[in-house]
Amino acid sequence: MSRFTPPPFEEISRFLAGAPLEEAEKVLAGNTAPSWQGLAALLSPAADCLLPAMAQKSRDLTVQRFGRAIQLYAPIYLSNYCSNRCAYCGFSAENPISRRALSLDETVAEAMLLHERGFRHILLVSGEAPLRLGVGQLEQAARRLQGVFASVSIEVQPLLQEEYARLFAAGITSVAVYQETYDPACYREVHHAGMKKEYDTRLEIPARAAAAGMREVGIGALLGLSDWRTEGVMLGMHLAWLRKQFWRTAFTVSFPRLRPASGGFAPRVPVSEKDLARLIFCLRIFDPDVGLVLSTRESQSFRDHMLGLGPTRYSAGSCTVPGGYLHPEFSGEQFEVGDHRSLDEVVRSIRAHGLDPVTKDWDQIFQRGEDNARLQSDFQPTLAAT
Ligand code: SF4
Repeated sequence: MSRFTPPPFEEISRFLAGAPLEEAEKVLAGNTAPSWQGLAALLSPAADCLLPAMAQKSRDLTVQRFGRAIQLYAPIYLSNYCSNRCAYCGFSAENPISRRALSLDETVAEAMLLHERGFRHILLVSGEAPLRLGVGQLEQAARRLQGVFASVSIEVQPLLQEEYARLFAAGITSVAVYQETYDPACYREVHHAGMKKEYDTRLEIPARAAAAGMREVGIGALLGLSDWRTEGVMLGMHLAWLRKQFWRTAFTVSFPRLRPASGGFAPRVPVSEKDLARLIFCLRIFDPDVGLVLSTRESQSFRDHMLGLGPTRYSAGSCTVPGGYLHPEFSGEQFEVGDHRSLDEVVRSIRAHGLDPVTKDWDQIFQRGEDNARLQSDFQPTLAAT
């Protein structure tokens, strides 16, 4: 399998710093998606004055490609054990938090509570500790939840291609794996120990999940670690490379901003809401078909303000503590949530903005081989008769 080899981070930073305003204006006036150089021009300091035009173009493209739909999902934290030491994360092995890994029954109970609350898309999340939560347990959980949810996604430790394929067969359709930062020097500084220390290995994981046949793969950068403009260009490059290699796979991009967490890590660089909005607009212009995720890390007011302008997927009613939906008294969160509204409240807000909240836009039946075979044979006579 070929590998994504990003250019030096500093080289992209220098390119960005020197990009002229006219380049960004040309991109905004054009009718085609820009190259990475065009994306760099949009994110350059010279183009700061073009934010309103970027918002407008992002809004237009989002309506064209996605209509007025906003998909809703909720995360379920399965385990906060982690063998890595990431300076910015509450689950880091060095933090003295209360640790817990859900049993299969507890996982199903948390999932059913979210189902009762109206969720049909869920994301299973865990720290990276394979001995506490292995592929076998994820597979069992997926099989228990088959037919209950429209889609089950995962954000867990990196797996082998054959393990992703096993999980896909069990009903998991989507994998999120974030590089955190595309700046190798910063990556080394914030990843103190554990498997995640290996920048190049981490960079390969999204391609591995796509090669295994996952329907959707999510990538992202954790904002607040290194220069956000350069992270945006590198994310765009990674996305474009993945699209070229895996044209059958759908891709999403997330821009999690650092939140207060156990360990007290302070962002190394400030990233304002305006900067985050700019990144979202620019990625939408760069790739009009990519799904853009805005999670409950962000505040209610920012999330409401961004409705219709670019993001296509929102989490709601989230809890980042394993077992925390059924037991709100549990501690050991990954980070503090910024938007505490329930699913119903987020749905009301989406409607108030003239958009359609969508709790189900996929069904597991679409991925089952036997069902596809049945559909084909059912329709064969009709097709033959025409
Ligand atoms: S970011 Fe992920 S790998 Fe790093 S400490 Fe947190 S849960 Fe573990």
